[in-house]
Amino acid sequence: MPIATVNPATGETERTFEALGPQEIEARLARATAAFDRHRRTSFAERAVLLRRAADLLDEDAADVARTITTEMGKPLAAAHAEAGKCARTMRWYADHAEELLADEHPDEGDVRDSGASRVFVRYRPVGVVLAVMPWNFPLWQVVRFAAPALMAGNVGLLKHASNVPQTALYLEDLFRRAGFDEGCFQTLLVGSGAVEGILRDPRVAAATLTGSEGAGRSVAAIAGDEIKKTVLELGGSDPFVVMPSADVAAAARTAVTARVQNAGQSCIAAKRFIVHSEVYDAFLSGFATGMRELTVGDPLDEGTDVGPLASEQGRADLEELVDDAVRQGATAVCGGQRPKGLDRGFFYEPTVLTGITRAMRIHLEETFGPVATVYRVADLDEAVAVANDTSFGLSSSVWTRDDAEVERFVRDLQAGGVYFNGMTASHAAFPFGGVKRSGYGRELSGHGIKEFCDVTTVWHG
Ligand code: NAP
Repeated sequence: MPIATVNPATGETERTFEALGPQEIEARLARATAAFDRHRRTSFAERAVLLRRAADLLDEDAADVARTITTEMGKPLAAAHAEAGKCARTMRWYADHAEELLADEHPDEGDVRDSGASRVFVRYRPVGVVLAVMPWNFPLWQVVRFAAPALMAGNVGLLKHASNVPQTALYLEDLFRRAGFDEGCFQTLLVGSGAVEGILRDPRVAAATLTGSEGAGRSVAAIAGDEIKKTVLELGGSDPFVVMPSADVAAAARTAVTARVQNAGQSCIAAKRFIVHSEVYDAFLSGFATGMRELTVGDPLDEGTDVGPLASEQGRADLEELVDDAVRQGATAVCGGQRPKGLDRGFFYEPTVLTGITRAMRIHLEETFGPVATVYRVADLDEAVAVANDTSFGLSSSVWTRDDAEVERFVRDLQAGGVYFNGMTASHAAFPFGGVKRSGYGRELSGHGIKEFCDVTTVWHG
């Protein structure tokens, strides 16, 4: 895959970049190692000053960086702007909280005496150079949710970003450097995925985090396993959105539209499968399909656009295959199901609602990374849980109900890293984020996220 900016709204290649060669990679590894040795000795207060400065710079740059993001991966400009703002807030959150989250822990006095010690505590120490392999869909956010806690913990980062967002990747390196971090603390490696193995096997790299597809996760985790290196994997999702009879059905239908088409449907935590109790099925489907039909698909630089193009021609082709396979096998396209008319240059696809899904269809089992929803009718709570869990993924979930007993059942039984009631899944710096099953393992954000790349060290005094 070439390292290039291809504008998804026009299909035009705007800039191409040379991949780094072995000597340039070596120089960056050496710089990262030297930077870690200095950075790990700095105080939380010193790191917080730098991270707050990065947040301020990002706020100042937001309009420009939003335009870069939109040009590289096609999300509407307002959404790209909002992404920059969320990154700045998350940097400040970690600047404010890291010291407290990583404070020494003191075991119970009785246990200390029982061990024969005069004093015991647990210290969180940074692991070192962490390789971050990241996707294009939230090209700032995916990186910042790794980088902010990692830098505050005393780690340093090497970013291998997706090959279609090189300008955003270079912007991030520049941002941290301008904020005052040592230039080896956060470096972008413009390399293809083929270079990841060599970098990950290098003894100077301590650990890796990957956000992306199942295939990429499997490959990186296998190499890291062979090297006995820690990984965090944030992979795909096929999140259920369950609507029960006690729900505010109109609100559920409105939110369902946003939950499905945010980022043109290219979000790991987008609701993808809509599982609706038969008592409210018709009302929900009608409201949902109406909302999907009313969306404006178009140029992501236009203010009135709700849904931009998909990020790549291949992404659209993959989505089309899933829809065509389902329709061929008997699914009904209540709306959409094709490319919009009059938008021939870019990688656009109509917001689509499919019903009549069966287990034989690929779309039932695979992730739809685009504005395509599948809607299922279920008879009761047991069937709702069974359909929701009938997937290899388990990232998050959204459930609409006002029945307390049902709430408990869903919390107990849904196989997912999050259960959001009467709202759509959205990440926040203070809450852990991550999946179960083939959506990956480990957590980002909150105290759980910052501790993933720390060595937990027991300090015992006789
Ligand atoms: P992808 O193809 O897996 O790419 C993600 C990153 O991995 C890119 O930097 C890519 O580099 C690299 N990569 C690909 N194959 C690799 C390999 N074999 N070894 C090492 N690195 C490799 O994913 P995508 O299709 O761009 O992104 C969409 C996927 O990411 C979806 O499945 C989505 O659900 C998932 N995702 C998950 C989360 C989460 O938090 N759980 C968030 C966002 C997205 P190149 O670009 O150079 O190929």
